[in-house]
Amino acid sequence: MKKSDITVTKNPNPGVKPDPSTLRFGEVFTDHMFIMDYKTGKGWYDPRIIPYGPIALDPAAAVLHYAQEMFEGLKTYITDDGDVQLFRPDMNAKRTNRTNDRLCIPEIDEDFYVEAIKALVEVDKDWVPSAPDTALYIRPYIIASEPFLGVRPSDEYKFIVILSPVGPYYAEGLAPTKIFVEDEYVRAVQGGTGFAKIGGNYAAGLKSQEKAHANGFSQVLWLDGKEGKYVEEIGTSNAFFVVDNEVWTAPLEGTILPGITRDSVITILTDWGIAIKQKRFTIEEIFELYLENRLQEVFASGTAAVISPVGEMRWKDKDIVINDNEIGSLSQRLYDTITGIQSGKLPDEHGWIVKL
Ligand SMILES: *Cc1c(COP(=O)(O)O)cnc(C)c1O
Repeated sequence: MKKSDITVTKNPNPGVKPDPSTLRFGEVFTDHMFIMDYKTGKGWYDPRIIPYGPIALDPAAAVLHYAQEMFEGLKTYITDDGDVQLFRPDMNAKRTNRTNDRLCIPEIDEDFYVEAIKALVEVDKDWVPSAPDTALYIRPYIIASEPFLGVRPSDEYKFIVILSPVGPYYAEGLAPTKIFVEDEYVRAVQGGTGFAKIGGNYAAGLKSQEKAHANGFSQVLWLDGKEGKYVEEIGTSNAFFVVDNEVWTAPLEGTILPGITRDSVITILTDWGIAIKQKRFTIEEIFELYLENRLQEVFASGTAAVISPVGEMRWKDKDIVINDNEIGSLSQRLYDTITGIQSGKLPDEHGWIVKL
């Protein structure tokens, strides 16, 4: 399939664009969406951009029963010169196919995937907000749409892309968060689906998130599912710890999500000559390093919030305050650098930017 195969039906009733100063995360959607279908034997077909609106699904559709579903998330920005640009969309396309393989969802051509996203953003480019810390969030996802109640991979799918103008992920902006170390529930185990971006992982994490919120924390820190001691992720982002002027993060060994922001952080730290170690380390070590005054900063990385500093952490009955509950200099520098590249204010030295 090629870009010229995509048909476009314009929305006859375009919506009113939101006031950028009131934008939160994922509450407003644009005028159009992209859909294409899949049938075994036929492949992906009928790529189309149509007015945004409800989709019809048979109540027996496989996704509604056994959760054969995956999703992605990326952002697009408008530069001061008016260029609309995406950040590393090829990485989302690659990750989609790795997730698809784990969930027995058919592969998608990666070049066409990026072309489809670009075509949709082009149609709705007036929705890309330009105020600082805003962007147009892109949500591609795939659902199993075949109506049947047996447990097997579906023979029909829908690949859909929707767009949402967004403000900062946390209403408080780049303020340090309070994190609760989860030692009751787990997110992922070796051999499971931790590396795959699927709705099922998120559904299984809600209980813990609710527990954290009820106790006044904004997110949880996940430990490994087997021994409950190795640090893995923070909520739905990757976790970084600054110790003795070097940076530690968990390795990609199947249980953590291979974040594109994580990869960008690692590349930028390497450019800066800062030691970055992808290794296993325990929560106990982190709390000991804190007592030895060697834990300088903790931050999370992900597309939604980019960099989110951690100010307080609770593990069992122990509470620690990191960097006096202030944004660390490395967290701030990484945030400024990544958002600078994304918004076109800083040069793109790694070929990460894809213009429409
Ligand atoms: C999406 C996600 C991340 C961050 O990935 P990015 O590509 O940086 O947005 C990290 N952890 C989990 C569990 C995720 O779902």
